[in-house]
Amino acid sequence: MEFPARFGVIVIGGGHAGTEAALAAARMGVKTLLVTHNIETLGQMSCNPAIGGIGKSHLVKEIDALGGVMAMATDRGGIQFRVLNSRKGPAVRATRAQADRILYKAAIRETLENQENLWLFQQSVEDLIVEGDKAVGVVTQMGLRFYSDTVVLTAGTFLGGVIHIGLENYSGGRAGDPPSIGLAKRLRELPFRVERLKTGTPPRIDARSVDFSVMQVQPGDTPVPVMSFMGSVEEHPEQISCYITHTNERTHDIIRGGLDRSPMYTGVIEGIGPRYCPSIEDKIQRFADKNSHQVFIEPEGLTTHELYPNGISTSLPFDVQLALVRSIRGMENAHICRPGYAIEYDFFDPRDLTSSLETKFIDGLFFAGQINGTTGYEEAGAQGLLAGLNAALKAQGKEAWCPRRDEAYIGVMVDDLITNGTTEPYRMFTSRAEYRLILREDNADLRLTEKGRELGLVDDRRWRAFCEKQEGIEKETARLSTTYIHPNTAAAEQVNAKLENPIGREYSLLELLRRPELVYDDVASLNGEPVDNRQVAEQVEIQTKYQGYIERQTEEIDRLRRHEETRLPVDFDYDAISGLSNEVRIKLKDIRPETLGQASRIQGVTPAAISLLLIYLKKRS
Ligand code: FAD
Repeated sequence: MEFPARFGVIVIGGGHAGTEAALAAARMGVKTLLVTHNIETLGQMSCNPAIGGIGKSHLVKEIDALGGVMAMATDRGGIQFRVLNSRKGPAVRATRAQADRILYKAAIRETLENQENLWLFQQSVEDLIVEGDKAVGVVTQMGLRFYSDTVVLTAGTFLGGVIHIGLENYSGGRAGDPPSIGLAKRLRELPFRVERLKTGTPPRIDARSVDFSVMQVQPGDTPVPVMSFMGSVEEHPEQISCYITHTNERTHDIIRGGLDRSPMYTGVIEGIGPRYCPSIEDKIQRFADKNSHQVFIEPEGLTTHELYPNGISTSLPFDVQLALVRSIRGMENAHICRPGYAIEYDFFDPRDLTSSLETKFIDGLFFAGQINGTTGYEEAGAQGLLAGLNAALKAQGKEAWCPRRDEAYIGVMVDDLITNGTTEPYRMFTSRAEYRLILREDNADLRLTEKGRELGLVDDRRWRAFCEKQEGIEKETARLSTTYIHPNTAAAEQVNAKLENPIGREYSLLELLRRPELVYDDVASLNGEPVDNRQVAEQVEIQTKYQGYIERQTEEIDRLRRHEETRLPVDFDYDAISGLSNEVRIKLKDIRPETLGQASRIQGVTPAAISLLLIYLKKRS
């Protein structure tokens, strides 16, 4: 592989956003360079070694549907898999996997190293090369200059990173890694709005010093779920259990006693932390009436004794950390191998981005991941993929692809961020999506793989499997709708045993599947053979049971599509529209929404203002 003189895409940072960005661009046939501080830390999980969960697995499966690596690496590194909300409807069902962080990282690195069109380089990027208002390359710490058509920045928590433990603090990108200071300084000279956020992590514990016998065991699910549409249980390493224990009054007293040395409660940390992943000191203050909080004891891997105590993220001084850990049942003799800490870092106001994640001020410069104000590997990976593919499209002289809110959670997240910005680390939830019956984790491939193929992201193997699945769903739906069972037959008896109201006439199997008491396996083998492919069976069942709701939501999407697709010119003159309030005018001018749909979601922009925009647009055309 000859080292190119110029690249189509340069990606800065090999975290979750950077690796997906680089892989996407390279898969599309564009010469791509990934420059990162340290090749050993490609795909490193800075915090919890877990992938997925509610809202997040939806993103992981969308990345997967578009040929990305996160789900595949999870299947190769996952040591415990569960389906959350399994008793609730399919829209909110979510897969979560505990990962062996070493195996996960190895899977990511192997994929990167074997990706055609992708070059890796270990160096810190200290500067961007900007000509006029266009990004054309990067300068590394050694002064090496690499040129490209586009640059994707995914520097995570590293820009101006400051690590806090108690009242001590020092510069760092995350524990053990250097911060990115030069680049942060340079970026502050550009016209972006920069703010500070913070996040934290718990101390890690040596399993040999823990008494698991007094904790509650939390095994994985059987049958074991898989994360990737292309994944299989055979790929999974050994599966192991997690454990649950609790904080108590004494733990809370210890924490309260240490607050005068807490960087958060003494005003040393100014950045806002993740609301849904609060530190333990935050929890005992915010939920002062609770005398106990759950702590999930999660193994970090199969070949390490390190444990991740999920629920006690903290930046209290080390002596307080040790005392609080040792006050928890089962951890009375615990040895902390790594102290917990908080980190403050720069993030950029995502309202300065377009829906392709390109910045509004510097042409060809894309931002993805934690630097856009999000938190989480999945949110970062999804943005990375989108930024990487759009950087590649730009390098190829093609138009950007930006999924709509009704197409993907990726679309929901980006639209939320670029429309309303964020003042706290943004994480995905199913409740953020208005069309969540359509945006399920189980159908991410049906929503996106065809587009991925068109973009050049999906390889032949995935495409073949996808086409077979689609065909399988059609065939099986047709079979169920033309296979009947008649009253007073053995098959009817079998079904009646599960039904509240026995069947009194001829029914097709598809009609029976609509009954709430019956699932695919109850009906599929009546007068025929069920399909082997569980993904096909699952789709047939969900599409049949929720057909009415899905149709209604599809109609609503179609009705609103006109607004969604009405584009607002970049140079739209909001001052020329009479009747707009000053507040609305300022917001519209500040955000410059790309479509009428996006304008309608800006906080404070009223339906009346949207009507004025519509009237004005009609007059103009
Ligand atoms: P990162 O994973 O941070 O990767 C950035 C990469 O860029 C790194 O490889 C770095 O070396 C590289 N890099 C940076 N600057 C340069 C440069 N100038 N030149 C070359 N390479 C560069 N998420 C949660 O969901 N919940 C949590 O509770 C949580 N807690 C966290 C606690 C801590 C202490 C930290 C550090 C992170 C936490 N996270 C948490 C966040 C999670 O780690 C991130 O959301 C995720 O890793 C972001 O991915 P990213 O790709 O944007 O950045």
